[in-house]
Amino acid sequence: MSVRFVKSSVSSYGLAPCDESRALRLIELCGRTAYKSEEKITEDSAKKFVLMLKARGHLSVLEHSNIVLKVEKDPAAQVPGGTEPVTFADISDALPDRLGFHRIFPVDSGSGFLMAGNFRAWIETLDSLKRLEHVHGFLLWSLNRFFPVLFPADGQAAPAPSRASLVEEEEQLELLKTDPYFDLPVFVFRFVCDRGVTHEVVRHRVFSFTQESTRYVNYQNKGMVLILPEELYNSYDAAKGELAPDDLLAGEWAKRAEVLFHWYREDLARGLRPEIARDILPNLLKSEIFVSGRWSGWKHFILLRDSSQAHPRIRFLAKEVRKYFANLGLEC
Ligand SMILES: Cc1cc2nc3c(=O)[nH]c(=O)nc-3n(C[C@H](O)[C@H](O)[C@H](O)COP(=O)(O)OP(=O)(O)OC[C@H]3O[C@@H](n4cnc5c(N)ncnc54)[C@H](O)[C@@H]3O)c2cc1C
Repeated sequence: MSVRFVKSSVSSYGLAPCDESRALRLIELCGRTAYKSEEKITEDSAKKFVLMLKARGHLSVLEHSNIVLKVEKDPAAQVPGGTEPVTFADISDALPDRLGFHRIFPVDSGSGFLMAGNFRAWIETLDSLKRLEHVHGFLLWSLNRFFPVLFPADGQAAPAPSRASLVEEEEQLELLKTDPYFDLPVFVFRFVCDRGVTHEVVRHRVFSFTQESTRYVNYQNKGMVLILPEELYNSYDAAKGELAPDDLLAGEWAKRAEVLFHWYREDLARGLRPEIARDILPNLLKSEIFVSGRWSGWKHFILLRDSSQAHPRIRFLAKEVRKYFANLGLEC
């Protein structure tokens, strides 16, 4: 049969990794989900793939990531020319238009600060900091120490008398659990749901998304996969992934779906590209979407979507997300 039904599902990928190699692999996985080309992933394909995205300006995929730096004054550092340490005020004064893309918290009575942002945020923030040479030079120098592929050093700027350390996932989580003010970690989920529901998910603007593309994916050979509607739950054999053959309602749904898919294939056969042939695909089309965001965003998502007002299938996603956070000890 060329049409299949599957149930919605949620996979958690935990906190966005703080080491470059794992971070690049996650971004590759997200990016390849859009084109359904995961079979091209190899041991060493991530670096090339992510640099290709960066070079082409497809920076939204690079948002499934997080770098948290702790910046402190380094009394031992000797920087010629009397350069001042980089402070919280330097950053917040210089970046009023970019602060929303970061989390910045003064720590140690204001002598240091924590600054979090995804790869895209850091790349674009560095760009807008170029006029502040010592801040730009110091941040680039620091990012290059931990993420040399994405932040190649320009070899020019001398660092300020400050030091930056990387705040790792475990410490980010501990800080958040101690005080939700420290909204530092980015949590990554993969939803398998229908296109109608992904359309609702992407309304949550504070998140980052990468979604299976109906423009690029050609379902001709893969077959059309739909999300199981609630009214068919009792007619579905989850182990086999099949609808009961003798169920009238299930038969009716399968018949309609086959007709739509037949029209889709006819349109491809008369030369239309998948991005045009997709017009006939239904809202129930299975779609995979990576969604990344901080606890504040997920908490908001759970409050709005794990509600009797919400669509049952987005509510299912929100309940699963809620369970994940409850297991971490984070409750709404
Ligand atoms: C039950 C239900 C029914 C709905 N029905 C409809 C409908 O009929 N039609 C429809 O179009 N949508 C509908 N929606 C979608 C809804 O309007 C929101 O787009 C969606 O829930 C995302 O919520 P949000 O904007 O609060 O979240 P986010 O976009 O994630 O925003 C989170 C927070 O970020 C801040 N923020 C983000 N962007 C801005 C901004 N540009 N300006 C100021 N603050 C910002 C705000 O503080 C906000 O609380 C519905 C949602 C629900 C839950």
